[in-house]
Formats: sequence, structure tokens, C-alpha cells
Amino acid sequence: MTEAGDPLLLGQRVVAILETGLRTATYKLATLMALIEHCVENLPTDPADALQVPIPALAHRVLEIYWHQVRPFDGHELRQSTQPKARILAATTSLRDAAGVGRGGFSVDTARLRAPEAYQRAIDDVALCLAQQPLHRLQKLPGASTSDAFLYDDSFLHDHVSRSTLRARGDAIVLNPGVAHGLARLAGLLKPALEIMWVDDVRRMNKFLAAEVPDVAGHLFGRERTALTVVRGPFKEAFGPHCFYCQTHLPANNPIDHVLPWSLVGIDGLANLVLACSRCNGDKSGSLPAVAIVDRVLERDQGVLEDVAASLQWPTQHPRVVAAARGIYLGQPAGVPTWSGYRRSERLDVSFPPWWVQP
Ligand SMILES: [Zn+2]
Repeated sequence: MTEAGDPLLLGQRVVAILETGLRTATYKLATLMALIEHCVENLPTDPADALQVPIPALAHRVLEIYWHQVRPFDGHELRQSTQPKARILAATTSLRDAAGVGRGGFSVDTARLRAPEAYQRAIDDVALCLAQQPLHRLQKLPGASTSDAFLYDDSFLHDHVSRSTLRARGDAIVLNPGVAHGLARLAGLLKPALEIMWVDDVRRMNKFLAAEVPDVAGHLFGRERTALTVVRGPFKEAFGPHCFYCQTHLPANNPIDHVLPWSLVGIDGLANLVLACSRCNGDKSGSLPAVAIVDRVLERDQGVLEDVAASLQWPTQHPRVVAAARGIYLGQPAGVPTWSGYRRSERLDVSFPPWWVQP
């Protein structure tokens, strides 16, 4: 097996570059998180394939990651950089302001619909910043003059790389053969590790957090529950007031569940959301659902979902959920336990692959 094809070795190298030296911003963590998510949702058919990753697509994901994080926390703006000018955070905040995100909160995709020009500006700013800073520096150990390009060729990137140079390179980086499959397989291990490093960095950069110990992780990576509640009423009307998993009749304040776990793929689109009872919701938590459950959620009436999406201005992201499901399940070893209902589990079996897994 080549080095690129060995996910364990790949994971060790990723962690090694992150554990070396103090970070001056959380941008490298965000970039890696975005890269991992991109690989999950764009898994190459052949594990040994290289994968072209458009920098604007990464910029969109980075915006999604910072989207809720830039809300004030405990009355403070959280610093995520030791530099006076935090470009990515500024771009995120500008887009939120332009799209008029209120207290309820909505997603980047909704902001894109409401303020397309501001969205494009934010993508341009973030993409250029990614190319000049984290993508250029990610594979370089502190003090080293050259990169160890084990993830992608970064020889055309530097602190002042121009938009025209990027355009000449197709506005993209190309992950080395095998890297995309490796990162997708490691998603479940690397993402929680990145979140822990991220919380540490934010604590270090914001001295006021040392005193109380509020829930920094929840603020940075928790799902925004208040925003999700607008889905409840329309879903009850469309699908009936029943738990998606156990069919029990639901009370007025039941939870909204992410079928593909929020901790693994942060997809808030309607196609990934269901009504659940608190018993099933709590029991399922961050575990991987059984294949039959994903089958059932993806086969819900798309017309009905699109109607709800139009009335709420909340995208379904159906193709994205399909792609993420495929990326996740193809990366799992056979036989891992999956959640199949309250206090029930079954071993993963994709020997008769469902339609969404077939390459
Ligand atoms: Zn239930």
C-alpha cells in the first residue's frame, strides 16, 4: 500500500502538522475541516484517484463553519486570530449583515439567495485569503522554508498570490492520489480532534474565557437549535406529527434530528432533517444511522420538501445529503454498528448497495 493510500499514516501526518507550534489563527483548522467535508461529499470512485478541489467551494464551506461562530458569545466578540485584521471573520460578518441574519439565524445558502452580490464578495475574499494564508502554510512546519506537499501541490501559492495566478491554475488545488479517500475515511476521527484543538485555540486567544468556563465548544460547534425550530410546524403539516424513527405521536416541543449526524457532516438542509421524539433523538445522538433509515429519509417526497423549502427559504440540499451519505458509508468498514432505532443497533452491510451508494 502506498503512503497516500494508508489513512492511518495520513491522519498521523495531519495531526503532526497541527500539533507543531502555536497557531496565530483558527484558519488552518477551518481549512482542514472544509477539505475533509469536501472529500466526504465528493468521494472519487477509485480510492487511488486524485481530486480537484475548487478554492471557492472550500471558501463556501469555511463560511459555513464560521457562520454561527461569529455571533457574540457571552456579550463578547470571540477572537479567532492574534492578528488585528481577521479577514475571514470580517467577510463572514459582512455577509451576515448584508443578508440581514437576525436572532433566529439562517444558513449560508439562504444568505446567498437573499444577498447574492454580498455572497459573491464574501466568497472572493475568503478564497483569496485561503490561498494566501492557510492553504499556502498548511503543509509547512514552523521554521521550514519549504512545504512537505503530502496533501496537495502548493508550489504556486504564496502570501501575495494574485487572483489571476489562481485563475490560471483553475482556481483549484489538486489533492494527491489517494488523499481524498484517506481524508474521507478519517472524517469521524479527525473532525472531533480538530474541534478540540479549535476550542483550545479560542480559549487561548480570548482571555475572558479563562474565568467562567462557559460552553465554548457548544457555541463554536453546536447546532443552532433555535433556528431549527422553524422547521417543526411545516414538517408536522407535511409529514404528520410523528417521530420519524418510532412513529410515536409528538408533543408540541419535540426535537428536530439531523439524520446524518451534525457532528460528522454539518448539513442543515431539509433533506437531512426529521421530526423525532426526545427518546429517539437522545438515544441516537451522534451515532451513524442504519442504511435503511437513510434510504427512508432520502425517499421522502421531494416535491413536498421543495414546497417547505420555498416557504421557509431554507434549502433542502438533497444532492448534498446523497453525496455525504455515499462518502460516509463507503468509507466505513463492513460490520460497524449502526443505530437502527431506540436501543437497537445493527451491523453495517452494504453488500447490496442502496441506490445512493452505487458509484
Ligand atoms: Zn421516536
